[in-house]
Amino acid sequence: MNLSSTVDTAASYFSRELLAWYRMSKRTLPWRQNREAYRVWVSEIMLQQTRVDTVIPYYERFMNRFPTLQALAEAPEPDVLKHWEGLGYYSRARNLQAGAREVMERYGGQVPDDKAAVSALKGVGPYTSGAIMSIAFNRPEPAVDGNVMRVLSRYYNRDEDIAKPSTRIGMEKLAASLIPEGAAGDFNQALMELGALVCTPRTPGCLTCPVMIHCAGRLAGRETELPIKAKAKPPKPQARLAAIIEGTGEHAGKVLIRQRPDSGLLASLWELPHVQLDEPAVKPRGRAAKLAAAAEPPVERQAEDAAELLQRLQAESGLRVVARRWHAAEEHTFSHLHWMMRVYVAELDTGASRAVWPAGLRQAGALPTEVAQQPAIIAAESAAPYSSAESSAPNATDEPDGYRWIGRNQMRDYAFPNLFGKILYDYWDATGVEEGGV
Ligand code: SF4
Repeated sequence: MNLSSTVDTAASYFSRELLAWYRMSKRTLPWRQNREAYRVWVSEIMLQQTRVDTVIPYYERFMNRFPTLQALAEAPEPDVLKHWEGLGYYSRARNLQAGAREVMERYGGQVPDDKAAVSALKGVGPYTSGAIMSIAFNRPEPAVDGNVMRVLSRYYNRDEDIAKPSTRIGMEKLAASLIPEGAAGDFNQALMELGALVCTPRTPGCLTCPVMIHCAGRLAGRETELPIKAKAKPPKPQARLAAIIEGTGEHAGKVLIRQRPDSGLLASLWELPHVQLDEPAVKPRGRAAKLAAAAEPPVERQAEDAAELLQRLQAESGLRVVARRWHAAEEHTFSHLHWMMRVYVAELDTGASRAVWPAGLRQAGALPTEVAQQPAIIAAESAAPYSSAESSAPNATDEPDGYRWIGRNQMRDYAFPNLFGKILYDYWDATGVEEGGV
């Protein structure tokens, strides 16, 4: 047998066996109930960077609220973001809605059976257009993502770096050549399913794999070594300070949140007021370092943080925020950034209500100038650290543009990134405010 017939055998064997396996053992998933293009589109966008198990409840909730493309196109954006809350990568939700609006305007609400038109929709890249065209319309278009590249790299024992765009293009050609006639949708899903269930990243289940006989990577003993992928630059660590600003008077029991700008990272989502620090940040590595980073900082550091919050939030938003006590340290990793956040419970400074810092700090010269110059916030030596001073002055009631006072019950009306949702729910739990409270 010559080389080309061996390759042909391996290719036709792969397509045939994989398809048969998929039709026998595919999972029942909500987006597989029918192949309507809108449903496929939503599921594929949700599944980017996110595991199937995680997506299922989000998908069901989203489709209940936006059962048709028209419903999604006509919904207010905050409603869409709220139904995406927790899935992360919120630009996906915004782009999905923008794409749905485009389909309403240009194609009368029907996703077009046209590769170029689908590829031109907002947020639809080569993978998603391939998935929509093949699954919804059974067109022989490849849908190549990281899972598929892993399977093909192993099956063909290929050494190309899958992080390179040229490798992806080569893989798309290869995947297209493998699609059996009339079975594009099932075949592409079969490839994805094999990558998700059998040919998994760390421990491929070669012994149960439907295509193991001709798998060149396995035959060469390289199944765990492949695919080759150049290391991406690690996310840049950034130190940040956040304030849970507690309301008083008519806002008692509430906290102040603000909306992010309508473009850029986490656009339009709601968050706690916070500032980025200039201090060099190092992502903690190892258990001991992580525990140390999560621990309550020494009082000197807390005093410095209080001064930063006061100065920076005033400069950036006009709010005078006085930190009252330590709350927690939290972290969140984005694709390019790693936020390390120190969070304080605080209040708005109305000129009368002041946080109390240990007087020993001032004597030791440990308080930063901005804090030390405010006599009202220095307590007597005997005062308990971080307790609130008595105040009979009017409460802070101003709500600057883009800010809201909310109680636990209003959490469901605003879309928060995971990080701030967690901080706030932990805070409500710690203060004893239950669901149905203020
Ligand atoms: S035999 Fe192993 S390495 Fe090859 S495709 Fe199957 S699971 Fe992946």
